[in-house]
Formats: sequence, structure tokens, C-alpha cells
Amino acid sequence: MVRPMHSWNRAFAYAALLGVSGAVLLLGAAAGAIAAERGDTQGLADRAPTRPHLDVQESPHAPLLLPNDLSSTLLATSELVIPPDLRLIVFAPHPDDETIAAAGLIQRVRESGGEVRVVYMTNGDGYVDAVRHSVHRDKTSSADFLAYGQRRHDEALRALGSFRLGSDDAVFLGFPDDGIDDLWAGHWSDSNPYTSPYTRFDRPPYKDSWIRNVEYAGTDLKGAITRVVDDFQPNWVVVPDPRDRHPDHCTTAVFVLDVLQRAQHIPARAPVRVLAYLVHYPDYPASANWAKQISGAGVGGTSAASRELSGTPWLRLPLSSSQQATKGDALNAYASQLEVMRPFLRQFLRSYELFTELDDRRIAGIPREYAARFGRALK
Ligand SMILES: [Zn+2]
Repeated sequence: MVRPMHSWNRAFAYAALLGVSGAVLLLGAAAGAIAAERGDTQGLADRAPTRPHLDVQESPHAPLLLPNDLSSTLLATSELVIPPDLRLIVFAPHPDDETIAAAGLIQRVRESGGEVRVVYMTNGDGYVDAVRHSVHRDKTSSADFLAYGQRRHDEALRALGSFRLGSDDAVFLGFPDDGIDDLWAGHWSDSNPYTSPYTRFDRPPYKDSWIRNVEYAGTDLKGAITRVVDDFQPNWVVVPDPRDRHPDHCTTAVFVLDVLQRAQHIPARAPVRVLAYLVHYPDYPASANWAKQISGAGVGGTSAASRELSGTPWLRLPLSSSQQATKGDALNAYASQLEVMRPFLRQFLRSYELFTELDDRRIAGIPREYAARFGRALK
């Protein structure tokens, strides 16, 4: 989910409070802050993703389970069919993304005899406003962020319990919340690791982190994802939609696709089917407007339209009332998130889940296209 941080992130949070005109001013300043931090003075708004903000109002009387809306009718969707005995990996940038985006899919795969592994890229330990809320004071320490990351880890395990998944079915990579895009853009080599401004660590700090002897560098994250994929040997992989506005989400997708584009060509291995989910995109999933905009967006939802992302097919997975209720149970495990953004999260309690499919051409092309934006060629 969203963690407003850094100077530009705080600007997003304030913009959400100020309304449209204030938002325009502040978000302009925010884009400048990103450019300044990265030593870039032009064109970054069309290259790098920017932090989304949450501005969702909820009626106190809103039903827990929302009815279908019109968004899927604007897209040519077909139903997602779940074959038996699948091996599914769901990549979640933060604890809760797997539930809001794919709780129904996880249940359907389990009910069809399949196995599921959920990979948490971060423990969500960089969400400043939520940590302040949690500790009941404005001044926070690195210990507060670490305790918060441990709390979100524990919540994730409780959520997975709703799907009858255990700790063996989860992988916590422990990479930096609010920093996945920094690894891609500025800390690729492990000779120059990134340090989380929240936990003050430059490597996974948690005892339950899957691999401890890695650093916060793009090469090390890519290596960790490769190990996860090689270890589990999935048939299907679910990633965030590369057009998601949250930098951790879209960059998680690019990292995973970069790993998969190599794996797709290993002769002994069956090709992997890749599905992608949206979380942070304007009006998603509450109104149909997002469906009109998405086909013109590039990685990070930028207006730099992507050749590789245009025209992706959309698939709809209907959820039974029982599956919807289980999704609600799993979401309720995330008390730390519901405390600070209940209306946003509850939007995802619907009678269907929506995914887009990324074929081989896109799996190979998206990371190449995105690396080129930063003047880097993929090896
Ligand atoms: Zn997230």
C-alpha cells in the first residue's frame, strides 16, 4: 500500500488534504524534489513513477461487500479459468497487496489442488504516518519502523492463515519499503547499496527475512527473485501492473519481469503465465474512469505511453460469496493498515478480481523499455 514519505511523499499526503488546486502546486513541487534528489532536471515526470495519494471517502453505512461496478464493462474482459494443480507465485510489494488484489485467485488455486507462494518484497516498514499513528507521537526512531515492519509481517501470516497458508508458503524478502524504485534507478550495484531512511538498514534486518546475506542493491534483489522462482518453479506468476502509480509496485513488476524473461527461454522449463493487478491508479477500482486512461499509460502510470503495455487483455475472476467473505477475513488481519486507510482498502472487497495478462513479448520488452528510460541497457 501507500506510504507517504521523503519530502515528495509528504507533499502527496498534504495534497490529498488540500484538494485539487493545492494538490497541483504541491505535486509540482514534489516532482521537483524527486528530480533534485536524483540529479535530474528535466523530463523526469515522464520517466519515473510518482507517489499516489489516497483520497477515498466512505459512508459509515457503506456495505462491506460492494456490488459490481461498470469498470469491467468498459474493457473487453473474459473470465479467468483456473486449471487444476497450478503452482502460483504472487508478488506483493507490501503486506496486504496479496489480499486486496488476489485473495480470490489464491483461494481458487488452492481449491483446485494448486500450491501458492506469496512473496513480500518489503515488510512495509517505511510508512511514516502509520508509524506515527502506531506509536502515538510525531518523533519516530528506526526502532519504531522495525517494530512496525515486524507487526506487518505478523499480520501477513494471519491473513495467509485465512487461506490456510502457513509460514512455509510465504517469503519475506525484507527489501526497503519506499525504496524498490531506488534500487532500480540509482543503487543497482552492490558496491553502492541503498540505505533505508526509516530503518537505517542497508540489508534485510528481520530474523525471518528469507535471505540475510544480501544488500539493498538492484543486482541482489534480482538474484533473490531468481532464487524464489527457481526454488518454487511456478506455472503462473502474479505481479503488480507495471502501470501502477506506486513506485514500489511498478518497479516490483519490472524486477520480476526482468527475471522471468530469462527463465522463459530455459528449454527444460514450461513457460510461465504472467498476470498483473492494479492497486494504485486514479479511480481504481471505484469508478470506471481508470479503464479509459490505462491503455495510454507507461510504467508507473506515466503519460509516456508504453509500446509494450498498450492493448493488454483483461481477465475477470468472479468470487463466490464465501470467497468474498474469506477475503474480508484476510483483510481484517491487517489492523495496522485499516487503522489508517480503511476506506481505500475496503474498495477492493468486490465480487470479482481483475487481472491483465503479459505475454512473452511484453515480459521481455517492459524491463528493457524501462531500463532504457534510465539510460541503462539490460544484460
Ligand atoms: Zn502496496
